[in-house]
Order: sequence, then C-alpha cells, then structure tokens
Amino acid sequence: MINYKAVLDNISKAVEPLSGQGRNADYIPALANVNPDKFGMCIVTTGGKSFETGDSAERFSLQSISKVFALAVCLSLRGESLWKRVGKEPSGTAFNSLVQLEVEHGVPRNPFINAGALVLADIMLTSLEHPEEDFIAFVRELCGSSTVNYNLEVACSERKTAYLNAAIANLLKFHSNIECDVERVLDFYTKICSIEMNCKELAKAFLAFANHKEKFSYAGVSLTSSQVKRMNAIMQTCGFYDEAGEFSYLVGLPGKSGVGGGIAAIYPGCYSVAVWSPRLNSKGNSIMGMKALELLTTETMESIF
Ligand code: GLN
Repeated sequence: MINYKAVLDNISKAVEPLSGQGRNADYIPALANVNPDKFGMCIVTTGGKSFETGDSAERFSLQSISKVFALAVCLSLRGESLWKRVGKEPSGTAFNSLVQLEVEHGVPRNPFINAGALVLADIMLTSLEHPEEDFIAFVRELCGSSTVNYNLEVACSERKTAYLNAAIANLLKFHSNIECDVERVLDFYTKICSIEMNCKELAKAFLAFANHKEKFSYAGVSLTSSQVKRMNAIMQTCGFYDEAGEFSYLVGLPGKSGVGGGIAAIYPGCYSVAVWSPRLNSKGNSIMGMKALELLTTETMESIF
C-alpha cells in the first residue's frame, strides 16, 4: 500500500523551486488579489481515506473546473442529444478562443471550452426550474459540503470585464445555439465559475467520477456508468484546452483545470486528487499543480497508461 501522505509531503517540497513562476489570472480582477504562493493538495480514495498537504483546507475559485459539473447536469437532462449542440473533440485552442466557433457555425468543439460551457449554461437555464439553486444543490451533494457556494464578488468582477465571453455568447446566439437572453446566460455562466471549494471538497466531488462503476445520483442528477466513463474520456481529451496533450503526456489521468489555479484529476477505480496553486502558465493552467500531478503519477506509477 502506497503511503500517500508521505508522497504528498514530498511533492509539496519538490515543487517549491517553481514558486514565483507564472502569475494569477488577473483578467478576472478579483482573482488577481489571491495570494499567489498558496499550494494545497488532497487525495480521496474510493475506500474512503483522505490524505492532504499544504493549504488543502482553504477554498479557492473553481472557474472552469465547474464545467465538469455543468456537463454532468446537461448529460443527465439531455442524454445523447446534447451532442447536437456541442462537440466532443479537443479544440487545440485557448479556452476563450472564438476562431473555431465562427468556422464551425456556432457549434463549440467541446463542453470544456468557454463556448461549450456557455451552451451548457443555456441548456440548464431552459430546463431547470431554479437554475442557480438546483445547480448548487447538486454540487453540494457531490462534494458533501452544504456550505459550498457561489462567490458573487468574483462573479460580478468577472462579469464586468467579460467582453470575450460576451462575444462568444453573441456568436452562439447568432447561430441559434443559445435560446435564452445572452445576458442571462453570461450571468449564470460566471456564477457557475465562481463556486469555491477547498482541495478536499474538490477531490470529494470528483470521487463520483473515479467511482464510475458505482451509481451516480446526486440531487436529482443521475448518470449511467457508461455516461460517467464517457465524461472521463472528455476530461482526458479536452480538460486542459490547448495543453490537453501535454497534461496527458506528463500526468496520464483524466482531469480538469481552472484559472483559479485548481486542477482535479481521477485515477479511475482508485482515487480522485485535487491540487491548488494560483500561479498559471500561458495556457491558463497551474504551473505547480501540473508539476505536482506529474510527480504523483511518476512516483506512484499510477496512471491510466
Ligand atoms: N470564468 C473563466 C472564463 O470564462 C473560466 C476560464 C477557465 O477557468 N479556464 O474566462
């Protein structure tokens, strides 16, 4: 049996030389103020054990990691017909790119780039009776914490400067791939991104994806094992935008990053892991977070490959 606590403590020392590299996502003003030198990591096993190191109990902004929860809700609502409105191919472009969306007539490449998640937000707005309440109820049940919430200050701060996301949403609307009012979709999307969790809560939330052979049913959101397996496939191929290949090469686990500096990943059947360090590389992924996960799968020899 691997001593995960010792592995995590070693990793937290090994990534120290990287501190100072990269910077916070300052295009969202509220995230620029987060202490850039935080580092936390937590593993939660399918057997119910958890192992932590560093600032693992401090909450941070999930940002694009929430897109995984949005996909779970939309797959449960729409099933396979979801794929008429959003693709499942890696984009190879930045998370906020407009380039493919124009050429591909308003059908986003995948649900984990901003364009795709804006479509997911629209689907939830048209299908859920109380979108904000229903979504957070699902996320709370998934992570087992009733205090997890939207951070409206972060959401407002992003919303005020969301010019690029507004352009994407308008292009989607032009192509009739958004039904609701564009402003409402942007509001809900930024709220979804503003949800905060700590590493332990995030690892717990992703355990349901690591446990893909178990029943997935949380606050009315139900998925079959096959659907969870397929969500993991999309995390593997699309979870890191134009660095999905690099993450797959270095780490070898399905996962999802966010510009808050968090990364959640799963080792199917065994554990989920969350890591947080706010300093990002040029692709918007956490520098220390990626290194920490690379060290984890290298040291333990546990990856899907
Ligand atoms: N809310 C962020 C945005 O739309 C999410 C991006 C991310 O985490 N990659 O720009």
